[in-house]
Amino acid sequence: MLCLLVAALASAAPEHAPWPGGIAVIDVGPAEAPRPIVEFGERRVLVTRVGDRWAAAVGIPLDTPTGEASVRVNTARIVSFEVSDHAYREQHLTVSKSYVTPDEKQLERIGQERKVIDAALTAWRDTPMESVALAAPVEGPRSSSFGLRRFFNDQPRSPHKGMDIAASEGTVINAPGNGIVAATGDYFFNGRTVIIDHGQGFVTMYCHLSDIGVKKGQMVTAGDSIGAVGATGRVTGPHLHFGTYLNGTAVDPALLLP
Ligand SMILES: [Zn+2]
Repeated sequence: MLCLLVAALASAAPEHAPWPGGIAVIDVGPAEAPRPIVEFGERRVLVTRVGDRWAAAVGIPLDTPTGEASVRVNTARIVSFEVSDHAYREQHLTVSKSYVTPDEKQLERIGQERKVIDAALTAWRDTPMESVALAAPVEGPRSSSFGLRRFFNDQPRSPHKGMDIAASEGTVINAPGNGIVAATGDYFFNGRTVIIDHGQGFVTMYCHLSDIGVKKGQMVTAGDSIGAVGATGRVTGPHLHFGTYLNGTAVDPALLLP
């Protein structure tokens, strides 16, 4: 009985949340057939088995217009879905001028780091996936600030692409699922950062750490310590910025946590 229960939980897809920053869960055929290749735009999409069906979990970019969207299944078949409306809040902040207008040298550094980070966030590793459910990487109050549209000194910035979890400096961060460390670094905006590749384009990111406890290429198991909470990079105090990505797209971590 317990085994059956565990198996049922392990095959669970996320809830269908078809809005910008959400995850569309789309039936893409019977599981007797081999796992299909599903693409959204230019990117492969994660496919898990749910009961006797295959389900695609599509990360929907925050700037996606509402209305009809579609995925391609095995190159030929088009499956449509509806992107619904979702309102995100706005926030106006006053911050140190050097963060608003980086100088030439800082811009060069930011550009180099962007390439490394984007490569890690868009990696595709074709491994079977049983679930995209995650455990919380740290315990603490979770903000609902994913998708928040921020203005620094009245200049619009890209929306907040993660969840901030309040925790004190030095709190151990645990891997929320199995994976391989795709990148680590000390970046201008994100501070000390770890990026984990869980497979099939499912990637998680941990920023502003005081300490990094893993190396690129290292395998991690759910529950392993990967570092500690800090206040490095562009932050006002210690917290964990937790980012979750599907098909290279930031999705709301709250949709993947218990
Ligand atoms: Zn954040």
